[in-house]
Amino acid sequence: MDKVAQCKGQKFQENGKAYTGIGGAGRLTSKAIKRIQGHYGGAIRKNCHSVEAMRKSIWSIFHHRGGRHDLCGDWCKKDNKNVLPQFVLDEIEPIFQDLSSDALVSKCTHGGTQNTNESFHNLIWNRCPKNIFVGRQRLEIAVLDAAVVFNDGELGRCDIFKKLNLSCGKHMVSGLQKLDSKRIKKSAARSNADKKVQRQRQQHTQNNTTDETYEAGAF
Ligand SMILES: [Zn+2]
Repeated sequence: MDKVAQCKGQKFQENGKAYTGIGGAGRLTSKAIKRIQGHYGGAIRKNCHSVEAMRKSIWSIFHHRGGRHDLCGDWCKKDNKNVLPQFVLDEIEPIFQDLSSDALVSKCTHGGTQNTNESFHNLIWNRCPKNIFVGRQRLEIAVLDAAVVFNDGELGRCDIFKKLNLSCGKHMVSGLQKLDSKRIKKSAARSNADKKVQRQRQQHTQNNTTDETYEAGAF
């Protein structure tokens, strides 16, 4: 987050303790920032049907960091001991205001489930192409892996690894993070392209309506 860099030299006081900057131990660690970014991605992906649900989900991440878990989704383990100090929360609150703003949130929703289903299906067919016959086990693994990535991003695989008592190395984590940010960039670009097509379609419909009215008047 740029905010951490912005506040680098700033002095803060909390419970009689002095802090410089909002990043680092006891404040925003880089791990916490990555988690927040991951949860934000999840809030966007899981709620593309509704502006209100997306906004709620984004704010739940903020409240989660402040130790309030009543709005948290299933990503919350409720054992987050690293509650951020109030001065850090105050500094990052405007970021959440931006992230949950109407302008941004409505850009991320597409009012239906069609695109969501399509992108989920794409994740499956990327894992086992339709034109190659695969056995049931491989198909099942593909669907489950697609669901993990769809819901929690590529980094979601780390949780699966942990459950299998396998450790994720830092190269794996950074590789998965790269894939996640690539995917987010790609879908943002696609959403902009969709908007353009939508505008063109609207324009087209408007033109046609005008023509029809004109025709109707001719009779
Ligand atoms: Zn929580």
